[in-house]
Amino acid sequence: MEVIKNIINGEEAPAVSGEAFENINPATEEVIAEVASSGAEDVNKAVESAQAAFDGGWGAMPAAARAAALKKFCAVLTEHAEDLAKTESLDVGKPIKFATYMDAPLTSMLFDYAAGICDKVRGTYYQVDDNYLCYTCHEPMGVAACIIPWNFPLLITAIKVAPALAAGNTVILKPSKDTPMSANLVGKLALEAGLPPGVLNVVQGPGRVTGQALAEHPDVPKISFTGSTQVGIQVMKTGAEQVKSMTMELGGKNPNIIFDDADLEAAVSGSLFTGFINSGQICTSGSRILVQESIAKEFTDALVAKAAELVVGPPSEMTTDQGPIITEEHYKEVLDFIALGEKECETIYKASLPEDLDKGFFVPVHIFGLQDTSCALFRREVFGPILTITTFKDEDEAVALANDSMYGLSASFWTKDFGRVNRMARAIKSGIIWGNTCHYVTPDAPYGGYKHSGVGVELGVEGLKDFMKTKTVYLNAGPDKMALK
Ligand code: NAD
Repeated sequence: MEVIKNIINGEEAPAVSGEAFENINPATEEVIAEVASSGAEDVNKAVESAQAAFDGGWGAMPAAARAAALKKFCAVLTEHAEDLAKTESLDVGKPIKFATYMDAPLTSMLFDYAAGICDKVRGTYYQVDDNYLCYTCHEPMGVAACIIPWNFPLLITAIKVAPALAAGNTVILKPSKDTPMSANLVGKLALEAGLPPGVLNVVQGPGRVTGQALAEHPDVPKISFTGSTQVGIQVMKTGAEQVKSMTMELGGKNPNIIFDDADLEAAVSGSLFTGFINSGQICTSGSRILVQESIAKEFTDALVAKAAELVVGPPSEMTTDQGPIITEEHYKEVLDFIALGEKECETIYKASLPEDLDKGFFVPVHIFGLQDTSCALFRREVFGPILTITTFKDEDEAVALANDSMYGLSASFWTKDFGRVNRMARAIKSGIIWGNTCHYVTPDAPYGGYKHSGVGVELGVEGLKDFMKTKTVYLNAGPDKMALK
């Protein structure tokens, strides 16, 4: 069985306490690794190592040299893309085709992008007075904690670690205790690529202990967190005590709106993708379908027919479309939501599982009809393969339903009316809008949530600057005017 240790100061080490926990394969329920269960002492060591690496050169390194180091890291990640995809698939239960064609190549793209922009972040010159020179410069913050969830651990590692390093920070990466493996592999590959010890540290452990110790550590000025809104609020409260810079990528309950003039085939295909990719365990899942009354039956019949074609099975097989839910605990939560749907909604479609899947946390796809928007299935993030379908009469009602949520992460809509595309893009209160598409993301454009879905942005130059401080400099070359008398 694999033993997963922390990576601190360029070396692998068990938790100081010697404690470890088991990592379970969600598709087989077998124990696949024993993982270091870190406490405050391990976090202290990681922070010391990251601070020493920052002070020892990484923070002050010319940006072009950092770009070269990141390019090399990117090359090593690309060389190991197959290992990374297999590791992710095993640990998360993610179908290997998605890990191979999405998570692993996107990881390389994100490091490549960060390497490319790290020497291109420039300050601004301000015109003031003949004798004065005023400009801004962007500086790294120091030690950045990157706390990540279990649903896309490899990709979210890249989304955070690549810009954090490119900005000149050193990093402590803390994966979810349910998915420790890809972060560990990325940490090892950083060393193989020659990143100096302490530049990227990986500490494993439960959120309430390891994550909490990071959030409250006085020498960690930056926290970049992706996870649930509930835990994000907790982390913000902890970090606020020390006025930390915090980026929060949190939960979502996203509308996916189908108008009667939509390209139906594209809308059905997109709705299936956004509803069931990663077994619905994706923050930007368009899990609230809103469909115009006049085409509701036609759309629903087509969606059900497509859903019936999904292949549920072992994540390691290339033909598998849908794998398991991450843990037994979450599996039970999703089953509770299904029970609620069966009680309070119309069951439109309920898939059955292949008989040979007698182990693993597999949940069959469910589609519910729902008109009572007070129902928890309309409001709460399920993170499972469950879609609800709610009908609307016109555009105004679609917008009202779409915005009737505490969340504001993403929204997608399908229509051929270009005027409506523009109106919808402005009317919906979400950070990411997809018109006639879904889940399209480029490393160059910012990504972040409105309302309870987050604070700050990731990706793009904006995401890089989120890991930096802005300093404003005034230099006087003439007589000083700031005299009291
Ligand atoms: P979670 O909030 O339970 O955990 C996220 C991370 O925080 C984990 O590493 C966990 O160990 C750590 N943690 C837990 N308690 C902590 C504490 N007190 N202090 C510091 N760290 C702590 O989330 P999850 O169940 O791993 O992931 C699912 C959630 O993530 C969903 O709500 C989903 O919407 C969200 N998510 C959001 C985005 C986005 O970009 N907005 C992307 C992916 C996932």
